[in-house]
Amino acid sequence: MRFMLVNQERPRHGASCSACARPLGSSYVRHVSKQERYCDYDCYRRYQQTAMGMLWPYQSSLEAVTVLAAISSWSLMMQMGALSRSLTEAYLRAHDLLTAEAEGGDG
Ligand SMILES: [Zn+2]
Repeated sequence: MRFMLVNQERPRHGASCSACARPLGSSYVRHVSKQERYCDYDCYRRYQQTAMGMLWPYQSSLEAVTVLAAISSWSLMMQMGALSRSLTEAYLRAHDLLTAEAEGGDG
């Protein structure tokens, strides 16, 4: 990656930092191949970190673990939901059988 430090040269009117969108001062950093302008190299680095954060939004492994735990507990909940649904169906079927049997006995 190549940068050009531009000094004492006002950018064209309305030029702003590609990272923080602040209007550029008399000195700024310009990305040579992309022609993007930044306040300074720190601003560019922060911007890159933000872009990385959008791809992998978990800054620390702890957050990733929390998210994975949330996902796995959610899928467990889904499984429990399916289990309780099938249990309810089994109960209703058994109840129907018992009821039918009881009615048959009465008749
Ligand atoms: Zn900036």
